[in-house]
Amino acid sequence: MSEQEKVNFGLERVAPEEKTQRVGEVFSRVARRYDVMNDLMSIGTHRLFKRMAIQMMRLRTGHKVLDLAGGTGDMSRLLAPAVGHEGLVVLADPNEPMMSVGRDRLLDAGLEQVQFVQSPGEDLPFADASFDSACISFGIRNFTDKDRALREILRVLKPGGPLLVLEFSKPELSFVENAYAGFQALWPAAGQMIVGDSQPYQYLIDSIRTHPDQKALKQMFEDAGFKDVRYHNLMTGIAAIHRGVKPSGDSR
Ligand code: SAM
Repeated sequence: MSEQEKVNFGLERVAPEEKTQRVGEVFSRVARRYDVMNDLMSIGTHRLFKRMAIQMMRLRTGHKVLDLAGGTGDMSRLLAPAVGHEGLVVLADPNEPMMSVGRDRLLDAGLEQVQFVQSPGEDLPFADASFDSACISFGIRNFTDKDRALREILRVLKPGGPLLVLEFSKPELSFVENAYAGFQALWPAAGQMIVGDSQPYQYLIDSIRTHPDQKALKQMFEDAGFKDVRYHNLMTGIAAIHRGVKPSGDSR
């Protein structure tokens, strides 16, 4: 396989199938303690970021929304009340152990209007123009083929429908970047203590490092066919929310 056909799994360059398999293993290993670790590693800030992303989706009662890479259901839990009982949230994710945790949580919260679909973002089993909006929260970094997934999301969105992507990004100030790198260095040890496994958290650090920065991801949205693409930095760029819209004239 040529170097160009390979993709990043953290800092390693691997065949696409190997990335898909290893990302699957990472999330299967962390699923049970995923939510605890998320709160710990972000000092709870991921909750605020997720609320901000959802505000930017401009949801209405009755909307049908796609929560791609929905994992343990954090976004779906916030989306469901916003679309109400007339609406529908579809949580799509390839990882069954992550979704199993999500199913239990949403059931406990009494949220029935969430459907779970086991699927990768690169090959969505949904009709063209079937969603009013879509989001990916801390997921796209792990996708094997991000460009293909963006084209798939464009296909399943209704014209005028927005895609919101919340993801780690590149801090604009070098002292923030350095301080954050120091904080990240603690994650594998925390993972070892809480999950009994440090490797998934080293992958997390490395995958953040190799993820496209704000401008590159904006370009990827545009290349896929989204218009009005903008991003908002969170905590000077430690994370960012990208928003793009399916053009009105695109009747796919
Ligand atoms: N969205 C949730 C959140 O914000 O807490 C979960 C994010 S978790 C860090 C990343 C999720 O991306 C995992 O559940 C994983 O299974 C999913 N994922 C990995 N590769 C994917 C792909 N190719 N398509 C869709 N989801 C994928």
